[in-house]
Amino acid sequence: MGTIVITGSAGGIGRATRALLVADGHEVIGVDVRDAEVEADLSTAGGRKAMVRDVEDACDGVLDGLVVAAGLQNDDGPSVVSINYFGAVATLEGLRPLLERSASASAVVISSNSTTTQPGYPVEVAEWCLADDETRARAVATDGLTAYPASKLALALWTRRAATTPEWIGAGIRLNAIAPGFIDTPMTDGGWDFVASLGDVYPIPIERPGQSAEVAGLIRYLLSDEAGFFCGSFIVMDGGTDARLRSDDWPRPIGL
Ligand code: NAD
Repeated sequence: MGTIVITGSAGGIGRATRALLVADGHEVIGVDVRDAEVEADLSTAGGRKAMVRDVEDACDGVLDGLVVAAGLQNDDGPSVVSINYFGAVATLEGLRPLLERSASASAVVISSNSTTTQPGYPVEVAEWCLADDETRARAVATDGLTAYPASKLALALWTRRAATTPEWIGAGIRLNAIAPGFIDTPMTDGGWDFVASLGDVYPIPIERPGQSAEVAGLIRYLLSDEAGFFCGSFIVMDGGTDARLRSDDWPRPIGL
């Protein structure tokens, strides 16, 4: 049994993940702007710093797991970038020393299948994120709809780059990203009819929304020792959208 932090713990996927982990006997420290053990606004530098301090106090200096689920999808492009990328990376970097002290640590980042299935979003936003320039990333994130996949692309690439470094797997911490498709949560409330109407533009071959419990089950697995060989993976779970739209894009032989 271990101590696991979930950011976005008051949200749909966060709550479902907490339920599974608590049932397994883990201690969960929730982080959110409301209804959480640690209440912090991860869109601000002050909130991120306070979160790290409060989690350190709450876990006695050692963490076994981390789920980075705090996120935003709305019209406010700069806020989308600040929470989805900079808040997430500050969480990962700030809590990494606590994970390093565990005998077996795992961190799971929630990206999105919009990274590979939403056409025409500004990759420039992701580039400024990865350049660690929050001011410029916010300045070019003028539209929330397209800032969302850009922020999640940057987060996925950050995760894959970091996962294989001495600071992460070299320190015994497995780091992986998951990329859900349309999941029925407060974030997507009322959106199913619109998404279903998109047809071939955004097909969902399974013909239903995903459920928070299904995402939570994957997160629980990735946190467990059974997933001990996962490092730097980007796991799509989307009812077939990416496979339908991108069936021949991946796997791609190296060098092509
Ligand atoms: P949700 O809106 O139910 O939960 C998100 C949580 O993040 C909320 O509790 C919210 O309060 C918290 N949050 C937002 N801004 C914050 C801030 N500044 N500081 C701290 N906490 C903040 O959404 P969800 O569907 O449970 O999403 C969880 C994660 O999964 C998000 O990162 C989202 O982008 C990602 N995701 C969701 C879907 C989907 O279809 N629902 C698909 C792909 C990825």
